[in-house]
Amino acid sequence: VLAADSILYLDGVTVSFDGFKALNSLSFIVRPGEMRTIIGPNGAGKTTMMDVITGKTRPDEGTVLYDGNVDLTKHDEAAIANMGIGRKFQKPTVFENLTVFENLELALKGPRGTFAVLLARLMGEQRDRIDAVLGTIRLTDRAHTSAGALSHGQKQWLEIGMLFAQDPRFLMLDEPVAGMTDAETEQTAELLREIARDRSVLVVEHDMEFVRNLDCKVTVLHEGSVLAEGSLAKVQADERVIEVYLGR
Ligand code: ADP
Repeated sequence: VLAADSILYLDGVTVSFDGFKALNSLSFIVRPGEMRTIIGPNGAGKTTMMDVITGKTRPDEGTVLYDGNVDLTKHDEAAIANMGIGRKFQKPTVFENLTVFENLELALKGPRGTFAVLLARLMGEQRDRIDAVLGTIRLTDRAHTSAGALSHGQKQWLEIGMLFAQDPRFLMLDEPVAGMTDAETEQTAELLREIARDRSVLVVEHDMEFVRNLDCKVTVLHEGSVLAEGSLAKVQADERVIEVYLGR
């Protein structure tokens, strides 16, 4: 596959911490508009991989390209966020004392929001945009509730909405359904499939039922490189994957 056909292109990416390779010649590609799940045991390198993409960690070796030709290793975190790469960390970080609506309003002023918010104001579209996001994240009824009063799952959706409001082209989410109820988990899969209709989404996840529900290609990381890739059914049937997960 050519870099030119990718939204994200990692090739031979190595990150060492005191001689220990957290990423060991990692290569994988995400195509524009694709949703991808990354799975792998603890310590596989999932967090380090996201840190490399967002510019938090510099690789010792390898290529990291965005949109086919932008070398992400040459840009800092703020610049990378401004390119439309959004990242959701595991814990929700919403402003508890503000309403759901106000949180979304603020998000529109975030990293990539400055221009979006000006344009939206100019067009009188900011409210419409927030209303649309509220619908997508299933919080229309809670718009004027303070975020602190939401359930854990709803807070996660709000934070996904805050990123989505900024219209990222590439969105990364770290274990978005951790701590959610089964019903919330199922709705999250639906919500992400909706969001992924017109952008690329990369989800790091442990919950296999959720991964099945996302219904996308899966990349299995192990010891800092790709162990297997394909449908969930395919990678789950892979002897090497079974071995890694059973710890043999
Ligand atoms: P995962 O997210 O898949 O659990 P990580 O990317 O967090 O894996 O970690 C991969 C490996 O790199 C682990 O063995 C971890 O201990 C090590 N590691 C991660 N960050 C650092 C760091 N800043 N210093 C030293 N070792 C690190």
